[in-house]
Amino acid sequence: MRILFVQLPLQGPNWEDVAANVPLAAGYLTAYAESLGLLDRSEWKILDEDAMNYGSDSAVVARIASEEPDLVCFSLYAWNLERSLHVAAKARELLPRARFIAGGPEVVDGMPILSRSPFHALVKGEGELPFAALLQDVRQHKPLSRIYAAPETLIDLSTLPNPYLAGTLPMKRDGTIHFETMRGCPFRCAYCYYGKNYPVLRRFPQEQMTSIINAASQAGCGEIYIMDPSFQFGSDLAQRLKLIAQANTSGIPIHTEMRLESVTPEIGELMKAAHIAEAEVGLQSINQKALEAINRSFDKEAFSRGAEVLQQQRILIKTGLILGLPFDGYEQVIETFDFLGMQGLGQEAELYPLSFLPGTDARERADEWGMARMELPPYWVTSNDWISGDDMIDAVAAFEESFDVEWAEPPAPHFLREKEGFCSFVDTRKIENIDWMRLNPQRLSNSITLLADADDPESLSRLVRVARDLKRDNPYTLYQIVLLSDTRIPSEKLIARIQDAFVYPDHYYELTHYFSPDPQEGYQTRMFFATRNFALAYRAMEEALDLETMVILSGKTGYNAERLVELLPYVIFDREGIPFDRLYELLTIYADYPSMLIEAPPNLFD
Ligand code: SF4
Repeated sequence: MRILFVQLPLQGPNWEDVAANVPLAAGYLTAYAESLGLLDRSEWKILDEDAMNYGSDSAVVARIASEEPDLVCFSLYAWNLERSLHVAAKARELLPRARFIAGGPEVVDGMPILSRSPFHALVKGEGELPFAALLQDVRQHKPLSRIYAAPETLIDLSTLPNPYLAGTLPMKRDGTIHFETMRGCPFRCAYCYYGKNYPVLRRFPQEQMTSIINAASQAGCGEIYIMDPSFQFGSDLAQRLKLIAQANTSGIPIHTEMRLESVTPEIGELMKAAHIAEAEVGLQSINQKALEAINRSFDKEAFSRGAEVLQQQRILIKTGLILGLPFDGYEQVIETFDFLGMQGLGQEAELYPLSFLPGTDARERADEWGMARMELPPYWVTSNDWISGDDMIDAVAAFEESFDVEWAEPPAPHFLREKEGFCSFVDTRKIENIDWMRLNPQRLSNSITLLADADDPESLSRLVRVARDLKRDNPYTLYQIVLLSDTRIPSEKLIARIQDAFVYPDHYYELTHYFSPDPQEGYQTRMFFATRNFALAYRAMEEALDLETMVILSGKTGYNAERLVELLPYVIFDREGIPFDRLYELLTIYADYPSMLIEAPPNLFD
């Protein structure tokens, strides 16, 4: 038997979230199945990381097919659901004898996937036991059931091996380790499915936690992420922290999630000694009515005291806020921002619109609260009885302004010819490159920069025609399209024509920018104007708000530093090609905006 696991990543134009795509579910399922003797190490694998994280849709499909698996198992999350459905359907066409299965938090009663999907079987709830039952059916040549659901009596965690200790997931030098010390949550926040899925709190044996941290210390891991949603819970918190401190011999920074209200000065000291570097804390809102509606509590004094303790210990606090809660109008949202600002927590805060995740109470009560929302992931609220869509955008703008942060960093192009073996840059000024792209969709990356000659109607027309094929083969690609001209700003009509050809409005990346206060609306297909003509660039920055403007700097180009400081366009440059003093000046000007400096290979624009 050959089993293949697939977990598609959260996509970004510069693959910024790929490191977090750890196939933890596959690690747990296989470690448990191996411990029962249901699976042999030689019988399963996780799809090649490079293809999974960097390949286009066709590339992933081709790589799955090349493995000739009998069973293909997908982990479904909100950020990869739609793309996984597409990839699984395409792979099924190539592998008619293989069985496709899926599990994860998207497999919940009442969701469309339960009635229609490319999967032969779905695993519902906590996965280890139902996955083992499915394997038993496969071993006994029984037909697969449509659903394998977790039994009411959940697995005894002392029987569940840890994937890193069992060797089903690697501990990489400088890599990140993800693990749980417990499953279950004592709280029932209305927007969260975790507590429902794991209704009782169970703990892994403490020796397992210390063994993992010890092993990670010896392996030289760079970061540990404790996945418990409420790490503080339990009267043994101080003792757990002491154990972590003893085991974490190399001082690996640890990230955890907890409530600030539980942090006393003693706990703060123990956290520091355990090398907890970052704590994610949920605040959501300070409006008691909103909190009551979503079944949360908040003790202002205890929260402030906990924040102060961690700040004194120099432990980073990332505070989660939710926009669009019931009873939270624009003014209440701003009051929450003000409170966070007073606490000195604003710059690291994370603001999320309320999400109606499958199976949650919030989803059931959405109509009662007058919530307009997205049908597809991320399932965000778009307006409700207390706040309009426009006010939500204004609230995001106020968040950015108050804390001097970017809510969702706008996409920037890259000029890398390839990313881990996949073509990620195509110079479409040459027609043969456009045709190559059309003929080789499986060799493309999932994020591509296309450089186009804005003054050449022939290559632009070809590009628009080829977009149709690309959309069919790789609908989930992110495009950064750079229109090049030194003589004129591309017309609105031209921009719209190209953007329309590539746009995929239901893309998760596009929908997660829904509230970005940005004049250019497209994100999955982002339009740029690049020029060596600085005067033209500055005019474009005033006139063409449907484009991001970029100036191309070469060794010979002179520029007015004051104008650059004033307008801050994107700058494309070749590090080796410009004199050192110029490079230094550029790096100084853009010290606070490093993502706006984009390196390109020498002579790319000649
Ligand atoms: S949001 Fe966190 S605290 Fe609330 S139910 Fe979910 S896991 Fe528990």
